[in-house]
Amino acid sequence: MLNMEREIYWNIPRLWIALLYGSFIIATVIFLCGIFRHIRLIRLGKKLNRLDNLFTRLSNLVYYALFQRRILEKPYQAFTHSGIFYGMLILYIGTLLVLIQADFGLTILKGEFYKYFSLFLDLAGGFLLLGLVLALIRRYIIKPAELDNTADDLIVLILLATIVISGFLLEGIRIAITEIPQELPIRYFSPIGLLVGQILLSLGLTQTISFYLYPILWLTHAILAMIFIAYLPFSKLMHIFTVPLNIFFSNLSHVGALSKIELETSEDFGATKITDFFWKDLLDLDSCTKCGRCNTGCPANLTNKPLKPKQLIINLKKHLFNKQKINSNLSPDTVSYDEVWSCTTCGFCSSKCPVFVEQPAKITELRRHLVLAESNFPQEVTAVFKNMETHGNPWAVSWDKRSDWCKDSEVKILNEGEKTNLLLWVGCAGATDERNTKVVRALVNLLQKADVDFAILGNQERCCGDPARRIGNEYLYQQLAEENIQTLKKYQFSKIITCCPHCYNTLKNEYPQLNGNFSVVHHTEFIWELIQIGKLSLSKSQILNLKSQLVTYHDSCYLGRYNNIYSSPRKILTTIAGAKFKEMKRHHKNSLCCGAGGGRMWMEEKLGARINQARVQEALEVIKEGIIVTACPYCLTMLEDGIKEKDALNSLKARDIVEIVSNSILV
Ligand code: SF4
Ligand code: SF4
Repeated sequence: MLNMEREIYWNIPRLWIALLYGSFIIATVIFLCGIFRHIRLIRLGKKLNRLDNLFTRLSNLVYYALFQRRILEKPYQAFTHSGIFYGMLILYIGTLLVLIQADFGLTILKGEFYKYFSLFLDLAGGFLLLGLVLALIRRYIIKPAELDNTADDLIVLILLATIVISGFLLEGIRIAITEIPQELPIRYFSPIGLLVGQILLSLGLTQTISFYLYPILWLTHAILAMIFIAYLPFSKLMHIFTVPLNIFFSNLSHVGALSKIELETSEDFGATKITDFFWKDLLDLDSCTKCGRCNTGCPANLTNKPLKPKQLIINLKKHLFNKQKINSNLSPDTVSYDEVWSCTTCGFCSSKCPVFVEQPAKITELRRHLVLAESNFPQEVTAVFKNMETHGNPWAVSWDKRSDWCKDSEVKILNEGEKTNLLLWVGCAGATDERNTKVVRALVNLLQKADVDFAILGNQERCCGDPARRIGNEYLYQQLAEENIQTLKKYQFSKIITCCPHCYNTLKNEYPQLNGNFSVVHHTEFIWELIQIGKLSLSKSQILNLKSQLVTYHDSCYLGRYNNIYSSPRKILTTIAGAKFKEMKRHHKNSLCCGAGGGRMWMEEKLGARINQARVQEALEVIKEGIIVTACPYCLTMLEDGIKEKDALNSLKARDIVEIVSNSILV
């Protein structure tokens, strides 16, 4: 008769089964002690409510944790991690069913269900083993720069592999002795087990050998499984639990908005001790899997500066788990000042992290404490703060000269009670930096040609506050932002247009925290709209005044990564150019920062290679002669400097997209 039931504990003495349950209890106690330690440490963080928007949180959990969305971006890692994750998940559920049947008398594994259950589990085991082999190859043979190998990494992979291999050997022996000789068709539903069984038989496995070998293997398999349970909370495998929680409790506010400090009620600012972070920040640290994705496009890391976002998170976690350190300051021992000030807040790290760690937010918290509580920041920043306080811009141009750039042109400056359709937010760079005033003039030219009703605030405009906020001076940021919001509220307009992605991000995503709610558009979006509705027509020839007509586009971090504006600039360029458009190696969300964000525009770059030169080099790799186009005043400045520093002025030019459009309009 066809045996369609699972024979559990085949050839295992009853005493051993009792011992298995005894060791399971011990392993569980160790496991729980480990888990409670994690919970206790995470609870040391400051309170924060993350139980809002439950539906979105649950959707994120399914999309990013269960379906592993961010891990699936790279095929090798996707296959490896899926094999391990789904293989373990299925085997865990399968083992539970086996135990329920064996020890609670519920016969689930029988008939048709058992056939497909066997097949499913067998393939899951194979998938898991393949994932583990690929992970070992990647770690120890391919050795990508972002991975470093610790004893824990090896222990985890070897432990899992030995559990799976011993499981297949057990299955193979059982099939070889109980199914192959009787030619039971059920054996075909464990293809890998059957293969192992056939190999063992060909190697001379007999009933007698299996009588001794099977229990020994079973015991080995069981002991390894118990070690796995007990070791889990003390290893990187803990991320099995922390990652889903971290994704569920992730920050749902706009990615471009830093958290607001309630200046009137807060007693301390930013973070100096690990316990100054919120509990969710500590859960972030505990969730890091050390995958190194955050390092792969970090401009600081790529130019050999001390900051490596992965190491930053690992060091903060070590600090949290070190009893002696828990009450000591984080900087400069755990996070050096150079690390703190090397960050451009480009957001690459957090956008790539598969487990939703927010590295830039932690760096900003450290900066906030250093700036607001200790007045400890790079010396060159002193003048920047002073200029913003006295002149309302970081460049020391007197506030009453802010609108000098348009003295000779017919640009309407709003006076009390006046209204306009479009408010042109000029920005500090556009108003005071000679090179960038050309960009604003080009935009004015376009708006006038397209017959758009627009006006500016003139000398009433102040710095939006982005540099102050990213450097950590929340006090100065809020002062400038509130002043601007008061000014803006005096006038009627339908939307604000700006050339600067930093102004765009701040006005659009951060001013609402201070009750400044305005409709904001970036010039790339607005120009593309004008082209689409036929208000601007573009020529298709020789707009570049270069033989090659080659253009590439550099994504500003605050336009692309933080605000998802990637397509309008590209559509404009491919519409106007008659030119050959080429992407650089890093583009869209993988774009490399120019090096100026996070207040770095005003800090000296003394460590490592220069970021702007690294980016110019990437442009030169795809266009030997042509134009690198951008849509950000910071990027434009950094790229032009980079071109000069690399002595590439004869082959490469940097332009804002509005300058390219302005040169090519027909009407
Ligand atoms: S925000 Fe950018 S510069 Fe800062 S750590 Fe992350 S990747 Fe590096
Ligand atoms: S912070 Fe995120 S991306 Fe970076 S190593 Fe940890 S898990 Fe990977």
